[in-house]
Amino acid sequence: MEWTAERVELLKELWGEGLSARQIAESLGQITRNAVIGKAHRLGLSTRTVPSKPIIGTLNPVTDRVCQWPIGDPGASDFHFCGKQSSVNRPYCEDHCMQAYRQTSDSNVKAVAGAKR
Ligand SMILES: [Zn+2]
Repeated sequence: MEWTAERVELLKELWGEGLSARQIAESLGQITRNAVIGKAHRLGLSTRTVPSKPIIGTLNPVTDRVCQWPIGDPGASDFHFCGKQSSVNRPYCEDHCMQAYRQTSDSNVKAVAGAKR
């Protein structure tokens, strides 16, 4: 069994619809429930908080979508995460997304990125 782009899409779709890993495995075929869970985990889908059936229109994505950008030294007492509302499907707020992408595209910026906020 190979994870073609098509199958990955289907997995995401079914997972998003709230199907159980077993149901998804059956839909995809030629795959075990554990493989579905493993793949979902690698795709970052396993943080889903609604395991059984989909709840449409009642979830407030804003509350659990806050910027995870670390601010300060992880060992310091004032270390915290940004906490601003993050962009849709992104772990960071707009500002920090830009910063993150700038870092990956230009590794020279990495060293100073923390200091020049
Ligand atoms: Zn932020």
